[in-house]
Amino acid sequence: MLVKNQLLSLKAYEPGKSVEEIKKDYGLAKITKLNSNENPYGSSPKAAEALANLSSQFAIYPDGGAMNLRAKVASHLDVDEDQIIFGAGLDEVIQIISRALLTPDSNTVMASPTFSQYKLHAVIEGAEIREIATVDGCHDLNTMLSQIDSQTRIVWICNPNNPTGTYVNETALKNFISRVPKETLVVIDEAYYEYVTAEDFPHSLSLLKDFDNVMVLRTFSKAYGLAGLRVGYGVGNKEFIQRLEVTRLPFNTSRLAQIAAEAALEDQDFIQGCVKINEKGLNELQAFCKRHKIDFYPSQANFIFIKTDKGHELYESLLQKGYIVRLFPNGIRITIGTEEENKNLLADFEDII
Ligand code: PMP
Repeated sequence: MLVKNQLLSLKAYEPGKSVEEIKKDYGLAKITKLNSNENPYGSSPKAAEALANLSSQFAIYPDGGAMNLRAKVASHLDVDEDQIIFGAGLDEVIQIISRALLTPDSNTVMASPTFSQYKLHAVIEGAEIREIATVDGCHDLNTMLSQIDSQTRIVWICNPNNPTGTYVNETALKNFISRVPKETLVVIDEAYYEYVTAEDFPHSLSLLKDFDNVMVLRTFSKAYGLAGLRVGYGVGNKEFIQRLEVTRLPFNTSRLAQIAAEAALEDQDFIQGCVKINEKGLNELQAFCKRHKIDFYPSQANFIFIKTDKGHELYESLLQKGYIVRLFPNGIRITIGTEEENKNLLADFEDII
């Protein structure tokens, strides 16, 4: 069987060890999972309530257009309903965009490091990938601009950036977008938007009024705590979104995901509470790093990136104490846990360093 050449260099997604396996391998009774930037407090109880008694509808296809959720998200964001495309998580929205825009004779520009799926889909579509190293964990927007040419279909701005947690501010983003050619799509991935506290963080949705080549991505997987149900969305220019809709699978978001997301969106008190606790945890962890002269990037998200060339050792030491974090070539990324998890982490960290 012949497959696209591009697939030959790729490995299928390999799930890491399960929590149960790690417990067994390391002889641990308890594991704290701080590797995937999930909400440690879960989701709004209203989401669970909304899902009770849905079993009579399991046999029925969901609403492919997610019309109820669409109306609620549109009103929440103050955009038109037909400016939104839903995906089974942002992973799928990223796939849809890449599939619709990238061809083997095109290129796409992104930071490095940044969220891995932008590159994966570019490889699958056979497009050239132009990765621009971050400076102090931040997008190097001038160098990114210099790499855009007539064949550039997509520029990815992950804001805040995963894995570094840094952000592009309003002035820098506006200036960047105004210099990108109109034929190139600028995707602003705001998966961690709800956690941001910086006052000069961009009002990205208002940019949509002035720029047809901008798309903003948000998800229910992070602060809303619905990663397991898979629902995220992109917002952009109506005509462009309708083109993307052609490549979307007809029933890509399940009924359960849509209903839970509607309920979660309505419970903004839950989000506010989680965001406050996250900010406190993040501040404590950042203060700890400063005190101990640990190199880190200041974060606007629900994780922190610690820069070290001893990442592997640190990763192993934390694992032995029961913390799963994410290992990168030049450091580790730690998700902010619950208040208690954070307190325990700092105490155990003290023993390690
Ligand atoms: N974008 C960024 C920046 C992310 O960190 C993630 C998840 N790790 C995603 C998109 C995808 O999230 P989901 O598919 O769960 O919406």
